[in-house]
Amino acid sequence: MANAVVPEETYLALDIGGTKVNSGFVTLSEEGYTVTGQERIPTMAQRGGQDVLLRIVHLVERQVAQAKTQGIELKGIGIGSAGVVDSEHGLIATATDTMPGWAGARVAEAIHLGRGLADIPLYMVGDVGAHGLGEALRGAGVGYDSVLSIGVGTGIGGAYIQHGKLLTGEHGVAGHAGHIPHGLGKGVLCSCGTTAGHIEPVASGTGLATLYNLRKEQAGQDSFVENGAEVVARMNEGEEFARMIVTTSATALGECIAGMGNLFDPSVIIISGSVVKAGPQWWDALRAGFLSSALPLVQKTQLVQGELGDDAPLVGAASAIQRHLREA
Ligand SMILES: [Zn+2]
Repeated sequence: MANAVVPEETYLALDIGGTKVNSGFVTLSEEGYTVTGQERIPTMAQRGGQDVLLRIVHLVERQVAQAKTQGIELKGIGIGSAGVVDSEHGLIATATDTMPGWAGARVAEAIHLGRGLADIPLYMVGDVGAHGLGEALRGAGVGYDSVLSIGVGTGIGGAYIQHGKLLTGEHGVAGHAGHIPHGLGKGVLCSCGTTAGHIEPVASGTGLATLYNLRKEQAGQDSFVENGAEVVARMNEGEEFARMIVTTSATALGECIAGMGNLFDPSVIIISGSVVKAGPQWWDALRAGFLSSALPLVQKTQLVQGELGDDAPLVGAASAIQRHLREA
């Protein structure tokens, strides 16, 4: 940061996901951050986008009133949301079926119509971008010029941050790491609707289970699993087939990450999400896949685990509005 003294600033941050909406007061300072006053509500996405949006407006009204009661001066509202976000207009450009009717939601406009919220500065980015910003600026990416952040959970997402700025692309789509082509995914239905062969449906947590069940079926066996955690559990119990699935999946993901590394040449690559807890076999295969496909200089780039956990999207959303206000 070029400024000699960076004062503490507090923002209301929101993380809007398919199952829950988290909110909290994020104070950013030179030393780090704190998150206080968290309130979570279930998204209840099946009720439709307008219903979700109305309850989010009420959540923001409660939180802003709460801040006032506690004497917290909010500098603005930062939001990380599921879906492809149009940051300029504060709306959701597209969203998947996990949040029906969320596409087109005019989030900024609705919040500004809320009680006492007309004048509060607001900025929204995608949830995966917010996560990446959090890790880049306050987590495992501190001290690095550029960060490639990859989240491997129920799905796979990514974000590229250079000098603290999130790359959004022409349509807000930049960073969709799960939709990078890989032969392993050929014929497997991706969350985006294609069967052309994307990495997400065979390398996310869900993807581990999908790959396991597909290969089991091909082998004429019927010992199916419910989720990725079950595949990992079977591997840890010594099942060779499960170990092979985890290795195959992580190697393929590592190859895709190498491709992204070759494109951006980031200072560091941060991997977060539930699947990173799969253990050393997963990490070893990921790194092997990465090394096999990364250009010689990119092979030196570290693949490290995220540090902020659930704080990352809130901290990133707060960082996004802070940067937006400073640029304005
Ligand atoms: Zn896809």
